[in-house]
Amino acid sequence: MLFEDTGLEPRLLRAVAEQGYDKPTPIQQKAIPHVLAGRDLLGLAQTGTGKTAAFALPMLQRLTESQPGPGVRPIRALILTPTRELASQIGESFATYGKYLNLRHSVIFGGVGVEAQRQSLRAGLDILVATPGRLLDLANQRLVDLRRLEIFVLDEADRMLDMGFIHDVKKVIAMLPPKRQTLFFSATMPPEAKQLADVLLHNPETVAVTPVSSTAEKIEQSLYFVDKLDKRPLLVEVLKDQAMKRVLVFSRTKHGANRIAEYLEKARIGAAAIHGNKSQNARERALSSFKEGGIRVLVATDIAARGIDIDDVTHVVNFDLPEVPETYVHRIGRTARAGRTGLAIAFCDQEEARELLRPIERLIRKPIPVVEWSKSILPPREQNAGSHERDPDDRSGFRGGRGGGGGRSNRPGGSGARPGGSAGGGRPGGGGGGYRGNAPSGGGGGYRGNAPSGGGGRDQRSNDARPAATPSSALAALPMERLAKQPSAGGPPSGGYGNNGGGRSRRR
Ligand code: AMP
Repeated sequence: MLFEDTGLEPRLLRAVAEQGYDKPTPIQQKAIPHVLAGRDLLGLAQTGTGKTAAFALPMLQRLTESQPGPGVRPIRALILTPTRELASQIGESFATYGKYLNLRHSVIFGGVGVEAQRQSLRAGLDILVATPGRLLDLANQRLVDLRRLEIFVLDEADRMLDMGFIHDVKKVIAMLPPKRQTLFFSATMPPEAKQLADVLLHNPETVAVTPVSSTAEKIEQSLYFVDKLDKRPLLVEVLKDQAMKRVLVFSRTKHGANRIAEYLEKARIGAAAIHGNKSQNARERALSSFKEGGIRVLVATDIAARGIDIDDVTHVVNFDLPEVPETYVHRIGRTARAGRTGLAIAFCDQEEARELLRPIERLIRKPIPVVEWSKSILPPREQNAGSHERDPDDRSGFRGGRGGGGGRSNRPGGSGARPGGSAGGGRPGGGGGGYRGNAPSGGGGGYRGNAPSGGGGRDQRSNDARPAATPSSALAALPMERLAKQPSAGGPPSGGYGNNGGGRSRRR
């Protein structure tokens, strides 16, 4: 199917051609005709599938067809989206695709001055792209009149709910006229999203593109088992691979994102962090530097990364595994935008292996291939910045409450406070490779800890069906095993990824 077959008018086709799009993506092929026909739509698609154009193009056409007479333009389309990045990006898409049309749009979101936004609302516009909080602020100031709205788009509904915007969203919905076209987009459909869709949509067409779990298929994935404190030095090591030209690193926390970026900068790798605590200006600076190749690495939290539109990310690094398995798929999807293939690397420490890895692998329906590497490639711990301090992001053990096998809980100080690396840590050229020895007290799950093999470091477990990944860059190929799969003699009482004895306090 070509764009010409979707029913879009010539001015839109021209704008799309100028973007270099050859043909509509699957979501565009499916959604555009329905939206042009005025139908409500439930779109199950994540970013990277071309969903913005899937709604923006036919919306622009419909709004052109129903252009009102002279006078201040009423808001006829509202796109509600969870993050400012996403909002700006959607605004840019409307500007790009609508460049040959006589429609006006504006983007409003919090965290920036409000005056320009007020002015644009007073001047009148056809299309408003907004995040919920700022929209409500301005509505309370009587600057937003949605009574003549024709099309409402709720974008990234699942994310909106995740971020706690449900009340704001409901308030916005209460401002909408009942007679309207509604387009509802969500990557996943948890029960709350389904409820919201049921309320909002009338007799909708449903279009779904690649379910989230299978998006992962075209992306080459690999996994490094690594001590939490070795993650940053390992990242530096991994980044020696010059094929990693434009790398998006995901950090679970804002603080962690800053620390990773600082560490990389110290290692002379151009990097910047992007997250909600950064000013809009700082984020935009970091983004454009990343897009233009000024820096190689952008370290982001999930929420900040969600709306970033960067087409040619060569690699995604999951520096921390996400707690929600779908997030893993969203993250790695950032390296396979609009049909490209991509490469994704995940770092996984003991605790993550125990609690987070298995659900991810269940979702993507395959094990992530493990890269075999040796800890000897890392500088000794003493030289690793921050090695003597307790990692504030370390969610692992030692806070009590870890019952069952005890695991690392009986190691005061734990991996986070292991100066110089004891028991297998940071032994340059030493025998034991990779991961052994990090749980000398033979405790609970995750890594087995007390690998019986001496000089060789670890035995390659023959019963481990996990595929090996191609070792990247300079990483030496020492056997790296899945230590979690089964208990070993004297090892953890219950292996596997399960939460044996659990009690991990979830810090969010
Ligand atoms: P989205 O899912 O809307 O975030 O879009 C992901 C990326 O795909 C954006 O950078 C778009 O510019 C790009 N894109 C959208 N539609 C097409 C298309 N038909 N062909 C190629 N790239 C596209």
